[in-house]
Amino acid sequence: MYTVGLTGGIGSGKSTVTRKFAALGVEIIDADVVAREVVRAPSAALEAIRTRYGDRILTAGGALDRSLLRKLVFADSAERAWLEGLLHPLIDERIRQEIAACETPYCILVSPLLLETSQRRLVDRVLVVDVSRETQLQRSLLRDQSDRATIEAIIDAQADRKQRLRTADDVIDNEGGESALDVRVRELHERYSSAAKTRE
Ligand code: ADP
Repeated sequence: MYTVGLTGGIGSGKSTVTRKFAALGVEIIDADVVAREVVRAPSAALEAIRTRYGDRILTAGGALDRSLLRKLVFADSAERAWLEGLLHPLIDERIRQEIAACETPYCILVSPLLLETSQRRLVDRVLVVDVSRETQLQRSLLRDQSDRATIEAIIDAQADRKQRLRTADDVIDNEGGESALDVRVRELHERYSSAAKTRE
């Protein structure tokens, strides 16, 4: 199955672009959704996390307390490595299954961490949504409840813009308006559809 990996920094327009491809009938696999599914109760991954951190890591309802887990692993890189070692193979496996089950000519894996993880190896082509840091900041501020410092910290923790562009096979420049974006998405859709066909 021909798979396009779609990525970009916070506020670059990943969700917006994804909706446009979906509207053209392309099947979407969302890595954030998969990452939540693999730790949903009951699951072996959630049990492993509970064994390591104790019952405090569960909410009253028995689900994973994601904000406590985030706090624990952000404070300690060894814990972060442990968690990634547990979850990344499970996430990859489920993404692989979803790619195999995809029924459209090609599918899109949308992932904020596509280039930072082994997910890169699951896709045939990398599509990067790109805007300037200032646009990222302005659009995120408009969308989220977060303050400027928080969004800047997230931008700084993500892959660097230059690095991302270096890895891209295709780039969507999202500085323009929605109609320019529509044109670009349709153009890429044509290209991916025929690339998928020649691969069959
Ligand atoms: P991401 O998923 O990468 O974080 P979003 O798609 O949610 O980014 O876009 C961030 C914000 O910017 C959203 O509020 C979205 O509606 C807005 N946005 C996206 N593309 C454009 C554009 N071309 N022009 C104006 N606003 C945009």
